[in-house]
Amino acid sequence: MQKRSGNIGVTTENIFPVIKKFLYSDHEIFLRELVSNAIDASQKLKTLSSFGEFKGELGDLKVTVSVDKEAGTLTVSDHGIGMTADDVDKYINQIAFSGAEEFVNKFKDTANGIIGHFGLGFYSAFMVAKKVEIRSLSYKEGAQAVKWECDGSPAYTMEPTEKTNRGTEIILYIDDESKEFLEQSRINLLLQKYCRFLPVPVESDGKTINSTEPTWTKKPSELTDKDYINFYHELYPGQDDPLFWIHLNVDYPFTLTGILFFPKIKNNFELTKNRIQLYCNQVFVTDSVEGVVPEFMMLLQGVIDSPDIPLNVSRSYLQSDSAVKKISGYITKKVAGRLEDIFKADRQDFETKWDDIKIFIEYGMLTDDKFRDAAMKFCLLKDTDGKYYTLDEYKTLIEPEQTDSEKQIVYLYTTDPTAQYTYINAAAAKGYNVLVMDGQLDSHFVGMLESKLEGSRFVRVDSDIIDNLINKGDKKAAKLLPAEVEMLTSVFKSQIPTVEKAEFMVQFEEIAGSDSPVTITQNEYMRRMKEMAAMQPGMSFYGELPDSYTLVVNVKHPLIGRIKSDAEKAIGAKVNEQFAALSGAEAALKGLHEQIKDNKPTDEQSAKTKEYEQLMGKEREEIRKTSSDYAFGQPLVRQLIDLALLGSGLLKGKDLSEFVKRSVSLL
Ligand code: ADP
Repeated sequence: MQKRSGNIGVTTENIFPVIKKFLYSDHEIFLRELVSNAIDASQKLKTLSSFGEFKGELGDLKVTVSVDKEAGTLTVSDHGIGMTADDVDKYINQIAFSGAEEFVNKFKDTANGIIGHFGLGFYSAFMVAKKVEIRSLSYKEGAQAVKWECDGSPAYTMEPTEKTNRGTEIILYIDDESKEFLEQSRINLLLQKYCRFLPVPVESDGKTINSTEPTWTKKPSELTDKDYINFYHELYPGQDDPLFWIHLNVDYPFTLTGILFFPKIKNNFELTKNRIQLYCNQVFVTDSVEGVVPEFMMLLQGVIDSPDIPLNVSRSYLQSDSAVKKISGYITKKVAGRLEDIFKADRQDFETKWDDIKIFIEYGMLTDDKFRDAAMKFCLLKDTDGKYYTLDEYKTLIEPEQTDSEKQIVYLYTTDPTAQYTYINAAAAKGYNVLVMDGQLDSHFVGMLESKLEGSRFVRVDSDIIDNLINKGDKKAAKLLPAEVEMLTSVFKSQIPTVEKAEFMVQFEEIAGSDSPVTITQNEYMRRMKEMAAMQPGMSFYGELPDSYTLVVNVKHPLIGRIKSDAEKAIGAKVNEQFAALSGAEAALKGLHEQIKDNKPTDEQSAKTKEYEQLMGKEREEIRKTSSDYAFGQPLVRQLIDLALLGSGLLKGKDLSEFVKRSVSLL
């Protein structure tokens, strides 16, 4: 062979600046590309040997990465199949470049759309090198070693050279901006990142970087629990043992292997730190797996290895890719299936892990319909006694006692067993069961279950008095006269302290057998709206509203009976008078409305209407004033209200300390 020179087969005048620009943020991947090529070349030789195409000694196939700071070079060398001059011509001068050109043509208009990772193969070396040299000796008998050189313009030279050992050396003359790649420590980090599971030994600085048979490439039947746990710690040092793992292995309609781990999550920070790693034939590609795995599985950890995931394109493309969709669907199915297996095989073990895995399962059920349908079978509910039930079991449990007069099954739940203790107790006294729903996603989860479980309703245990939560139609209305209602409403309302961002209504109920004279409940619907608003921007209307509470006064309670009769004695006559005037005005207004009917009111009628309305307002105000003036001299009213506020955690600061003082003086 003669020394010759030529132009690499590209039309683009100078492709290197383009390559550099495109890959600007990710120069380091050149090393992954070159080492991968070296591994491929070694694997190919093994294959040829196993087919008898190559009869020589395979010898030591390790790939070496070395830096020579003085010479300013980084060298990747292998003992693989090597290349003849023809091979270099064909694969490097023609094909490799045409690939690069095609790529650039395809993406030159959407440079910004290309995020992260794609392989430009051999030519990515020019991202960091001012000159690249290939020295190669093919495995073919009688081959002549070849040296190829290119300085970053499309011009190259190629000539025979001296090289006695089979394989290829790629020598990079690192450019001035990329001196970092001459640091052994930097190279070590990169090899750790990209090459730690490559199938052929990779050595640098005298040390082997990789384990060539990573756990996920082995058969599950050959692995013990310890193997999986060790592998997990190898991937994520310093973590607690994982709760479960799922070994993925599929070869049709796509190829995919991997192991997914359910981690024990201690805090949210870890969620974003230790992510699933994506590999392509044991080469690390990325740990941003959005789009490849279903969203909720981003909380999982582990490894997915697939040659079928198109890695060299933008995210939006990835998400619409049908192969990727299939992969995501497959993973979902596999994870659901495995969870069901574990649930069936060892229910007790599953229950002990439930509190930790619940977040994954709920997230999955909320965001993925297929997963939800599968998970309905093994999703658990936990009650305040710490017992676990499947959805079916729980329905069977509560149906007899907790079905209301409208045939709805009422699921009672607490979001805070300690704070809502009194309410849970009241429910238990009735023989009802209460679920614990105190997880981060539970408010959404409750809504989802409600929509999926037919004929069911979820209510937080403190959202009303228990007889109203599960209304069995036998509830008695409080026996109070309208004037008494007006009076007592003002007596109580006037004594409710101002609680920030809270609004109170007063309601009278006959609650037999209850030991609380006054209870605070919080409207379920409004509370849920606010909780949703807190998590979703754009629902700020609900977010701005105050919390709405109801002060439920139990007229069956002796203390309330006393308050009532005391008030009756002191101001009953006066209030009755005021109420009679109010009723009179009301009746007059009603009569007037009947006169007017659908006609346009005369001027006189309009004036009268206004007069009656003003009169009603005035009388109401009178009742209010009479009652509240009276109430301010009745510390018992305030005391009972404060006790109720205390029971729901609403009594704070100055009001709390006044309560303590008043309690002492009452004692
Ligand atoms: P790709 O690896 O995607 O094919 P590259 O640009 O990385 O693209 O390489 C082009 C071709 O050059 C490879 O397919 C291979 O035939 C050849 N090649 C690259 N590196 C080596 C090597 N170390 N040993 C043998 N052949 C190589």
